[in-house]
Amino acid sequence: MSVDRRMSVDALVEARGVGRSFSVGGWLGARRAIAAVGHVDLAIRRGETLAIVGESGCGKSTLGRLLLGLERPTQGQVLFDGRDLAGLGERRLRHLRARMQLVFQNTLAALDPRMTIGQQILEPFRIHRMDVPASAPPIEQLLADVGLAPALAERFPHQLSGGQRQRVVMARALATEPDFVVFDEPVSALDVSVQAQIIALIRSLQHQRGFASVFISHDLRVVRHIADRIAVMYLGRVVEEGPIAKVFAAPAHPYTRALVSSVPRVALGARRQRVRLAGEPPSPAAIPAGCPFHPRCALAQDVCRRDRPALAVVGGGQSAACHFAATAAEDAAITPTLVPTDPPPLRQAHA
Ligand code: SF4
Repeated sequence: MSVDRRMSVDALVEARGVGRSFSVGGWLGARRAIAAVGHVDLAIRRGETLAIVGESGCGKSTLGRLLLGLERPTQGQVLFDGRDLAGLGERRLRHLRARMQLVFQNTLAALDPRMTIGQQILEPFRIHRMDVPASAPPIEQLLADVGLAPALAERFPHQLSGGQRQRVVMARALATEPDFVVFDEPVSALDVSVQAQIIALIRSLQHQRGFASVFISHDLRVVRHIADRIAVMYLGRVVEEGPIAKVFAAPAHPYTRALVSSVPRVALGARRQRVRLAGEPPSPAAIPAGCPFHPRCALAQDVCRRDRPALAVVGGGQSAACHFAATAAEDAAITPTLVPTDPPPLRQAHA
């Protein structure tokens, strides 16, 4: 059964067949389109967190920007609260964007070194050309909400630690009281101990304020502790999607199995052997025919080299794009063994 494209009626954000291509080349060669994201269907419900994971260059950051209306899709639609972002005029889109915020990895790039922390926390209102409403929380309150002392409002970004800067970026994102926040690798640049504090803070803020979120990461250890559902991307497409507990317990796509098996505690808890990911992902400019994962897949058959599998329901709220997904999920839930060897670490994402 293929995935139903009529999304949940209570979805706050929906991607319907969304894709984004970029034109490359020229000069001496012909220009051609490279698909960074292709045919993605997703729904994010109010108050829930969807993790988007995958290796560097898989298109997860581009998808995050598409969901925020910061990139225009070259195919499909993104709906926010039922409205197609591409169909909105600039003024309406700007006001709607105040309800959507982005928190990303590089806090030094996100903050202006010439402005005090207090000034920057009110920046979203200026960017969206809005008056600061009387009901907006005061700067001191926003700083307190993210665990910072009010006195930090007078400091500059370079006077803060990396963890403090990430808290400031979150306080700024919360100033407009958004309904939807995309966190793009928000803890990748932080020490492990600080990562845990920031993850706990995000969970606490989400619990208090009820916003929906997308959490983009290359690190499955991190998303396990924060997401309700997970979407796994490979070469611009979602290859598996479902409730996070089910996907971790019985990953249906061989690529997901390899990623999950590289998380030490998950692998040990399920008495699993690690699954090797052979080689590097192919270039988006030379995507293999059939299933794009087949050159790296230990289960590949002739049909995999010939026919591209669609994302299809495999049961339990899970969907996977694999000709043998149901079998793989059953095997994974019992005693998975593909290529038992130590996997290479996932590369740090910079996309
Ligand atoms: Fe592997 Fe074939 Fe499934 Fe692709 S369709 S993931 S090659 S088994």
